[in-house]
Amino acid sequence: MTDRPKKQPVATASPFELVVKATNDVIYDLDIELGKVSWNEPLYSHYGYPKTAAINTVEWWTSHIHPEDALRIENEITTWLEGDLSIWEAKYRFLKANGQYNYIRDRGYVIRDGAGKAVRIIGSFLDITKQHELDRAKDEFISLVSHQLRTPLTVVRTYGEMLDMGTFGKLPQKQAVPVKKMTDASIRLIELVSDILSISRLEMNAIVARPAITDVNQLISEQIDQLRPILSDKKITISFTPQSLVSSVAIDPELVAQIIHNFLTNSIRYTVNQPATIKIMITPTKDNFTISITDNGIGIPENAQEHVFQRFYRANNAENIENHGTGLGLYLVKLLAESCRGRVWFTSVESKGSTFYLELPYSTTLGRK
Ligand code: ADP
Repeated sequence: MTDRPKKQPVATASPFELVVKATNDVIYDLDIELGKVSWNEPLYSHYGYPKTAAINTVEWWTSHIHPEDALRIENEITTWLEGDLSIWEAKYRFLKANGQYNYIRDRGYVIRDGAGKAVRIIGSFLDITKQHELDRAKDEFISLVSHQLRTPLTVVRTYGEMLDMGTFGKLPQKQAVPVKKMTDASIRLIELVSDILSISRLEMNAIVARPAITDVNQLISEQIDQLRPILSDKKITISFTPQSLVSSVAIDPELVAQIIHNFLTNSIRYTVNQPATIKIMITPTKDNFTISITDNGIGIPENAQEHVFQRFYRANNAENIENHGTGLGLYLVKLLAESCRGRVWFTSVESKGSTFYLELPYSTTLGRK
């Protein structure tokens, strides 16, 4: 009898082992106590490292994170492991063997023991360098276009205002109305373009907070003064009680002024029942202080509340009373607050009013990364 060819053994690998082999992404498995990491094939094939024991340690990994990202990542991971969330995700630059840094999206899942202590992390690196470069090129383009648009728009606005003021002779009523509409539209367009420009710069991290010793009370008073003409038109008064503890803090005055300006213009814009009072307060705590702006305006419907910091979002009740908004103001405010190492939030009841808050540290030491 001749021997029959032996059957190939049925694959005994677990689905996890097969996925680790099949994927293009780097998969890692980190034993936190031992500080040991195991990697799958793409770490060697894609990032170019040899298979040596030296690379199987946490120290090797962290020493290959870009120095400008390393501290942020270390802080984020510490907070994650000490907290109770199971997933952490971050974008950072990781060094390849050829000396080039690639952008990666690292997503980790932590396994904790019975006492909640983090013992193991399984995660993956997705190389997002191409996507990052495309995003950057798009942002640069938007930034350039917005910048180029501002100059001709300012010319339209200036001549419109001059016509409106009668600099070239008094206009007959038939012409004055369309000229005023045209001028107002050019002002709105300039504001829109400025917001888009600021947003694209903030998204590219091209704006970094420059702290300077500032009197927050004076900064707020200046913002109120700028809005005086609209306030008296709308019969709105502002009550503001200065707070001596914030008369000398290290914040970026321009960025913070922009946040206050946006909050205040919204409060004025969405206050329909007049006369009315908008209340500004400053509450100091140990490490931070909070500026709050309260109005008795239209409020934000409950179903809209989770969306108002998203770009271009406007609640229905706002669209009904004011068709000039863009829905960019609060998104911009959120980015500005992040670049000042602060945070923004609000409380609101529809038809009753809203309070918007800005919390800032007494000292903004670094810009957003
Ligand atoms: P907009 O240009 O529409 O004012 P924002 O981004 O500044 O854009 O605000 C987004 C939306 O949040 C507004 O359209 C409105 O629905 C809501 N909102 C913001 N501030 C207030 C406020 N003080 N009172 C009521 N609604 C507000």
